[in-house]
Amino acid sequence: MNLHAEAGQAQPRLATIDVNEVPGAPGIAHAGAMHGTDVREYEALLQFLYMAPAGLVQLGADGAISMLNPLAAELLMPLSQDGGPSNLFDVLALVAPDLKLLCRNFHAPHGQICDAVRLYLHADGTARGPQVLSLSMLKLDACRLMAVLNDITAQDRRERQLRNADAWLNAIMTNITNYALVSIDRRGRIESWNDSIGRVTGYGHDIKGQPYALFYPAGATAPAQLLDRLRETDENGWSLDEGVHLRADGSQFWGSSMISPLPGRPDEEAAYCLIIRDISDNRDASDSLRKAAYCDHLTGLSNRRAFFEAAELELMRRKKALRPVALIMLDADHFKAINDRYGHPAGDAVLCQLAATMKAVCRQVDVLARIGGEEFAIILPSVGLADAFAVAERLRTEVEQVPVIYEQHAIACTISLGVAVMEEDMSGFEALIKRADQAMYEAKHQGRNRTRIYS
Ligand code: GH3
Ligand code: MG
Ligand code: MG
Repeated sequence: MNLHAEAGQAQPRLATIDVNEVPGAPGIAHAGAMHGTDVREYEALLQFLYMAPAGLVQLGADGAISMLNPLAAELLMPLSQDGGPSNLFDVLALVAPDLKLLCRNFHAPHGQICDAVRLYLHADGTARGPQVLSLSMLKLDACRLMAVLNDITAQDRRERQLRNADAWLNAIMTNITNYALVSIDRRGRIESWNDSIGRVTGYGHDIKGQPYALFYPAGATAPAQLLDRLRETDENGWSLDEGVHLRADGSQFWGSSMISPLPGRPDEEAAYCLIIRDISDNRDASDSLRKAAYCDHLTGLSNRRAFFEAAELELMRRKKALRPVALIMLDADHFKAINDRYGHPAGDAVLCQLAATMKAVCRQVDVLARIGGEEFAIILPSVGLADAFAVAERLRTEVEQVPVIYEQHAIACTISLGVAVMEEDMSGFEALIKRADQAMYEAKHQGRNRTRIYS
């Protein structure tokens, strides 16, 4: 059997092993009369060395190569100046200048001298980057060393790419101002965080191990709820929540928090990623949009659209639990005359004061709307006819008794009101509006400044 790693010039390095000739090569097997089993074992060993996916080199204490397998020859060939590698220290002098010293200073009788040291070959600035070898050195005994070489160019390149990506991500994570990233463990305790946590929540580096409830006002979330969100994350892959969040100084902000599982870390402590975002600005913007869409610009009450939506909602609620709903329709009396006498802006002031009186008299749950020029409506959930009438009368007398002061004028104003309640036989809200309207016109007919109940 010929094991041949072409090594060039006539140097005594292991190029050829001829088993039948009894190997003179130190290190692999010792000669003498070899028996059948010995020969087979020896061949198996040679085959192992030949096929090994790593470059294997045996050398003397002075670096002289006595044996190397084909892969080692291939890896070292580009480094050897004059034909073939004969002394490992010389061959690696440029890329591992300390190797010789390192081996000489290793005084133990045997053992590992170095482990997976990276050697960067011909780093000539090519786009593909350098070829990278990993080198491990072993001391076998006083006069034999072994080198294990691996080509790790691809692995090194991948690692560099990952490091770059990592640095890139890190830069994003720390530089974005309105996201805070927190990793939390399976029990909802804070594990780690990025720098912007300070910018978003004001917390410093004293939050490790604390429950992530820290970011919510007391009472806003129960501990069980926080764990529920983690279980929800397990099931759905994420959990999103929007609401009031808490800063370290106790101030509050409108934020969104998203929890997602950290992939592939079943045994490690950190299990979820929590991203908190300050969305106060967005909310302000959507609030003003909402206002524009649902608010009457003059009085600040609900507009027609909001009124009909609220009516729809109230009707749905009523279906679930049968309870009374009352409606008051009201209209300013002789309002045209007020405009004519004091001017349109004065008329506006009267409408605004009327709205303010409605707010003062009614409850929070009541829906107050301006549904026409000087026409208003009030939905009173869970209020029966008698109570609704009482509210309407209070409103009427209040308006009658308190004139509107506008540019030194005391402008008197009255209103006419109609009251109706939802009955079993009525199909929808339109019918209720019709009845209240009818009652209101009756009040007008009967002389104005009065309240009429639909009958
Ligand atoms: P009635 O007692 O029968 O309700 O008489 P009225 O004068 O109040 O009713 P009419 O419908 O004849 O006139 C309503 C007036 O309300 C006409 C319109 O110019 C005025 N108006 C409607 N919207 C506004 C508003 O936003 N501001 C002001 N200042 N006036 C308005
Ligand atoms: Mg009117
Ligand atoms: Mg009118």
